[in-house]
Amino acid sequence: MAADLTGKRALVTGGSSGLGEDITRELAASGAKVGFNYHSEKNKAESIAEDLKKNGADVITMQADVSDRTLAAEMVSDIIEKWGGIDILVNNAGIDGRYALSWEADLDEWERVIKINLFGQFYCAREALKYMIPKKSGVILNITSVHETIPWTGYSSYTVAKAGLSMLTKTIAQEAGPFGIRVLSLAPGAIKTPINKNVWGNPDTLKDLLEKIPFGRMGESSEVARTVAFLVSDAASYITGSTIFVDGAMVDYADFSHGG
Ligand code: NAD
Repeated sequence: MAADLTGKRALVTGGSSGLGEDITRELAASGAKVGFNYHSEKNKAESIAEDLKKNGADVITMQADVSDRTLAAEMVSDIIEKWGGIDILVNNAGIDGRYALSWEADLDEWERVIKINLFGQFYCAREALKYMIPKKSGVILNITSVHETIPWTGYSSYTVAKAGLSMLTKTIAQEAGPFGIRVLSLAPGAIKTPINKNVWGNPDTLKDLLEKIPFGRMGESSEVARTVAFLVSDAASYITGSTIFVDGAMVDYADFSHGG
């Protein structure tokens, strides 16, 4: 059954591609008004918006680099001004960066990954909370990763950002819980999107990846999007402060299926 988000006002960051696009489509199909953010894919964002509007959805596109504290805050306040408020924030925008062992990492690149994956989520959440706290209502969902818990060689900035984002979720859930605001994380495993095309586009790396997933296949972005729609809906009214894994049991140490 689809979630019911009738009358809710949502903002999805990084909505012009992959998970963000499907989350935007699912929230709109569930009845929410959706502002979806894009960074550089203006044409793609506009064509998604046009497509959704044709089907009667109330959507707008919002350009911003979420790692810029001023632009991120302006984006959130713009949507609040336009729609008179915000009920749902999905912090989805993210990059995994370039492979580099920690002692070889380029510092600008290392910091950029943290700024997009962690600072950006904080800037948007902070601005949304300024509205949600006095209203005593709202939901913030942060897209983390199985790498909030699984280390990943060559991607220390990504794992640090996602682990930090998971703790940000828990801390804000503690702070905002008394105001009736839910804050949670959704940690995808390996979901087929542009971010990991280099892996699923090559039979050898795909085979290696599938061995890490007890469920034996990659996830589809629609499977994440449906879970997001449920989690931000009132049907999930007592879920807050934790991470929901959508990962085909990837965090369950697949190697142990052959004995320990
Ligand atoms: P994607 O590359 O298709 O989407 C990432 C989106 O983030 C894009 O729309 C991109 O434009 C946007 N973005 C990047 N930098 C930005 C910035 N500075 N400001 C605003 N937007 C920016 O990849 P995806 O798989 O859809 O990733 C979405 C989220 O899911 C990311 O946070 C990613 O870390 C997380 N994730 C994905 C997987 C997976 O297997 N696909 C697994 C775990 C976590």
